[in-house]
Amino acid sequence: MIDEKIVEIRKTDRSRINEVDFDNLPFGRVFTDHMLVMHYDNGEWSRPVIQAFQNLNLNPAISAIHYGQSIFEGMKAYKNEAGEVLLFRPEENARRLNKSAKRMCMPEIPEDVFMAGLKELVRLDSNWIPQNEESSLYIRPFMFATDEYIGIKPSDTYMFGIFCCPVGAYYSEPIKVKIETSYTRAANGGVGEAKAAGNYAASLYPAKLAKEEGYHQLVWTDAKTHEYIEEAGTMNVIFQINDTLITPELTGTILPGITKKSVLEIAKHWGVNVEERKVSVAEIRTALENGTLKDAFGAGTAATIAQIQSIGFNDGKVFTLPDFNQRDFSNKVYKYINSLKRGNETDVFGWTMKI
Ligand SMILES: *Cc1c(COP(=O)(O)O)cnc(C)c1O
Repeated sequence: MIDEKIVEIRKTDRSRINEVDFDNLPFGRVFTDHMLVMHYDNGEWSRPVIQAFQNLNLNPAISAIHYGQSIFEGMKAYKNEAGEVLLFRPEENARRLNKSAKRMCMPEIPEDVFMAGLKELVRLDSNWIPQNEESSLYIRPFMFATDEYIGIKPSDTYMFGIFCCPVGAYYSEPIKVKIETSYTRAANGGVGEAKAAGNYAASLYPAKLAKEEGYHQLVWTDAKTHEYIEEAGTMNVIFQINDTLITPELTGTILPGITKKSVLEIAKHWGVNVEERKVSVAEIRTALENGTLKDAFGAGTAATIAQIQSIGFNDGKVFTLPDFNQRDFSNKVYKYINSLKRGNETDVFGWTMKI
């Protein structure tokens, strides 16, 4: 384990915390006092520095802007009843960031440096972690290319940063999704499994069209045939047909979500039957028609579990799912995983890290 003293801390002398209304926190618009910054140059990362949260001064030619070498992560910190700070499986985020980096031809960050910087930052701004039930501190690590050069090549320089946002209860409307069978989020051999900024850019226009039809989110299908379900674009999807949980297997076009992975591990621990395999659009439609689709939900850090209210298809047919309070699995796993993250449940998996 690297010495956490490797992180240089330049504490701000003016906290903004008293200007924040913690009872009305908009998602992702309020930032804590500090941020972490590292620069990559000459083949190595600089020492991580924690400094006041501030604007960046950037040359307009930096390659991230023009060619999109830009990746990120998303995770949360919680306070337990004793006021201690907990992270949930943060080493998974460190590993995934490096996988994304590799795919986008960007430099990896040593896991111990990532962890040391993350812990120091969250500790320093721990008074920003809302303690009330449902609220948490959203943490956004990100990396982008900073070469001041408009020729096409992998950048030689990068910036890595982490900033944090206190967030309130994630109010998720009952979600109405549409299974998208025209547009594509990710194709085989592409960057769908990387948490790359461009994946989001590509998904905005089809999502906007779906919103105009009254849907909240899209469920993407495979690029080649549009016959198989992939994910919701910010969340992975899990279905329950009769008593079995079914979710698309990770084939390289789906972002490997830590929430989904955790939900599946919990389900197996509870003795629930789990199938990770190809899930066809036809199978879901049939299960909706014959009433065997008991539950469907998205899994992701922001909402944890977002129950799906209705599923629409390209031909305009929309099916409504069973009432929310009849969804035994998603209700139970939502409560369980949130209690686990907040230290209100014995951590039999060893997933929480006290910092
Ligand atoms: C981040 C993300 C998810 C959810 O992953 P978690 O690790 O559970 O937060 C799902 N799909 C996409 C495209 C994502 O970017």
